[in-house]
Amino acid sequence: MPLPAHSLFNDLLHAHLVPAVLDCLPRSSTLQDITRYTEALRTFRLHGFGAAGTRAVLANIGIGTCPREFFFRAQSALKDTKEVGRVGGYLEYSLFQQSHSSAPPWHGSISCGSGADSTVNDKHVLSHLLPTPLHFEAELVDRSVCAEFKLCSRLLQEAQQAKILSVDELGACQIHGHVYLFTTSVPCASCTGVLSQLRALLPLVTISVDFSSTRVGMPSHANQRQE
Ligand SMILES: [Zn+2]
Repeated sequence: MPLPAHSLFNDLLHAHLVPAVLDCLPRSSTLQDITRYTEALRTFRLHGFGAAGTRAVLANIGIGTCPREFFFRAQSALKDTKEVGRVGGYLEYSLFQQSHSSAPPWHGSISCGSGADSTVNDKHVLSHLLPTPLHFEAELVDRSVCAEFKLCSRLLQEAQQAKILSVDELGACQIHGHVYLFTTSVPCASCTGVLSQLRALLPLVTISVDFSSTRVGMPSHANQRQE
């Protein structure tokens, strides 16, 4: 009996695509890591991994899905940013420096749309996170204007200003807490790489990411749960 198409797709995804992407995903913003990822994406001829592929890659680097109630807060925050061609992004954070600290966590939220308005150009932040150039024809798009990159870099910029971003010699910041991120589109390959860099920079923080594969409505995994 032939395998159902979705079963074959999942087998190929987990047997080939995910291991290949994990092998080249940037763990830092070093030129070596970014160049290696750029070359691999050019070889794969990929600009992204689709909803299922991106979900699988993120799960393999310890980035899960957000609590359901977060999605409704994200929808509320993004209701004014539904412009044609723009991807909306919303991020919430709650971070603290030591697990036994009695100080209240540093928390807040950031929302933005993709595009070249008010991008972060803080050199210290950009030393921790870098987008990856994608190959033709997507190479003409500046990936630092993606909503995911803007949210993550603004988070680090604000953490830097709050003096909570202290990076050790191994390139990691030993803070705790959580970061939840939602975007109205599937992250591109560059942004998947940025999330991998954020994962490595904040190893003790729970990082959760949801995205809609339809630009509106529930995140893809929530749609699956409803079926
Ligand atoms: Zn992107």
